[in-house]
Amino acid sequence: MLGSIILFILGCFIGFISPRLPVLIITRAKGFNYHFSQHPEPISLSPHLTQRLMHMRTFYWLGIGFALIPIAAGYTSLVWGSASLGFGLWLSSGWSIISKLQTFIGGNHPAWTYDMAVRLQVVMNNSKQDPCCDFPEPEWQLTAVRCASCNITLDEMARPDLGRKRSDGFIMGSIRILASDGHPIVSEPGND
Ligand SMILES: [Zn+2]
Repeated sequence: MLGSIILFILGCFIGFISPRLPVLIITRAKGFNYHFSQHPEPISLSPHLTQRLMHMRTFYWLGIGFALIPIAAGYTSLVWGSASLGFGLWLSSGWSIISKLQTFIGGNHPAWTYDMAVRLQVVMNNSKQDPCCDFPEPEWQLTAVRCASCNITLDEMARPDLGRKRSDGFIMGSIRILASDGHPIVSEPGND
């Protein structure tokens, strides 16, 4: 009985972590973050940042593909191996897929969207055409996009995790990303 429970929990854990592996791992190496300041400092707006946001979005959706692995393994396990391991794998990876798909029927948005990339682009365009001060330097701070020179708020968009090497280390950083699903943990009062 205890063995079954442990296998079930193990299955749940593998099924939970697999769809999130792309977001947790792919861009964390130093070489991928050459163009960015270190976490958790603000990031200057640039085409590199917009591209990173789009990459994070891709990795998020890639998670559905990664969830198919534990689903296949869970099926194998249900048929030929341990039913409790297989059930754990199915339950949590199936849940991950459902929670990603619910965004299409009005659920929460992912932490990284095309819309956000467009908003960054609009801020960059505005800072050239209609600058807020003499030396506009838009950067994405934790709670909003602000100008580093004059500190004016250019867009009230809190910053999600952007795939940089985490200052809180891989383990703690990963736990925070898993808990928040990449969403910003803090936001300005009055913002949601
Ligand atoms: Zn400014």
